[in-house]
Amino acid sequence: MVNSKYLLRFLVALVLTGFTAWQGFSFYQQWTHYRETRFLFDTEVFVEVQGWGAKNAALEALDTMREIHLKLDRYSEDSDISLINRQAGQQPVRVSALTYEALRESLQIAGLTDGVFDPTIGPLVKVWGFGEEGSRHIPDPEAVQAALKLVDYRKVILNDEQKTVYLTDTGMSLDLGAVAKGYAVNAAVQILKSKNISSALVAAGGNIYALGQKNKDIPWEIGIRDPLQNGRVLGYVELEDQSIDTSGDYERFFWAEGKKYSHILDPRTGYPAQGISSCTVIMENPALADALATAVFVLGLNEGLELIERENATALLIASKGEQYLSEKMKGKIKTKEQILE
Ligand code: AMP
Ligand code: MG
Repeated sequence: MVNSKYLLRFLVALVLTGFTAWQGFSFYQQWTHYRETRFLFDTEVFVEVQGWGAKNAALEALDTMREIHLKLDRYSEDSDISLINRQAGQQPVRVSALTYEALRESLQIAGLTDGVFDPTIGPLVKVWGFGEEGSRHIPDPEAVQAALKLVDYRKVILNDEQKTVYLTDTGMSLDLGAVAKGYAVNAAVQILKSKNISSALVAAGGNIYALGQKNKDIPWEIGIRDPLQNGRVLGYVELEDQSIDTSGDYERFFWAEGKKYSHILDPRTGYPAQGISSCTVIMENPALADALATAVFVLGLNEGLELIERENATALLIASKGEQYLSEKMKGKIKTKEQILE
C-alpha cells in the first residue's frame, strides 16, 4: 500500500516535471518566422527562417557566416588568409579546418576550370585597384605582367596532415572573394538542416539558397536582375533546395577611355574579362555555383556555356549588349510575375 502511494506521487511528480520541461522547451522553440540581416563579405547577408526554433537556428547560421567571413577575409589582418599571404615564399601556415577545406575545394574548382577561376588572383586584384587597398585604374602593362606571374593556383601547396598552406612565391596572395559567399551560404544551410529547419532563405549578396518551400506547395521565387537596367528584374525562377548566384559587371567596375572594366579578372591575360554582363548559375551547392559563375564570366559566352553543360548546371548568360543565352536546363525556367501568380 505504502509502495503504491509513493509510486503514485512519483508518477504525478514525473508528469509535472515533464509538463514544465515541455513548456520551457516550447517557449524557446516556438513556430516562428524570423529574418535578420547583417553586413558581412562587404555586402548584405540575411537569413530568413520559418519553423520551430526559427530564431535560434537563424542566429546560429548567421554566426557561422560571420566566422567564415573572419577567417577568409583577406583584408582583415588576423584572418587565416592574411596569415597565409604574409608568409608567401617564406613558410607554410597552419590554418583552421574550415579555411583548409575552403581552400582545398577552391583549388579543385581551379583545376576543373583550367585556372580561369583562380584563388591566387590577389596580386591582379591589387594592381587593378579592385581591393580595399587602392583605387580602380588601368595599370601599366608591365605591372599587369608582373602581377600575372604571381597568379597560379598550382603554386599553392597543401599538407593534409598538418593542415598547412604554403604559397611558394613571395608576393603571391590568395583572394577567395569569388567563392567565400557561396561557401558561407552553404555552411549556414547545413546549420539550418541540422536544426531540422525545412523552410528558409539564406543570402549573401547575389548568392542565395532556397531551402524547401516558402509555404506548402509554394516554392521560393527569386528575381534575376537585369544587368543593363539598374533596379529592373528580368524574370523569376522558382527554387526548392537549390542555390542561385550571379556574377555581374554592374557593382564593381570603372569606366576608362570609353570602356567598362569590371572586377572579374582573366588569369590568362591579366585584364578584366570582357563580353558578359552577367552570369547567373543555379546549382545545388552554393559554393560551386559561386565559383562557376565567376569562371563562366571569365570564359565568355561559348566556352562558358560549354562548362555549364559539362557540369550539368543551369545558367543564364547575358552578353554586354543584352542578348540572353540560356543553358539547356534554364529553358522554360524564367517566368514573369504573372506566370508565377497563375
Ligand atoms: P564574384 O562576384 O563571385 O564573381 O567574385 C568576384 C571577386 O572574385 C573579385 O572581386 C575578386 O576578389 C575575385 N576574382 C576576380 N577574378 C577572379 C578569378 N578569375 N578567379 C577567382 N577569383 C577572382
Ligand atoms: Mg563567384
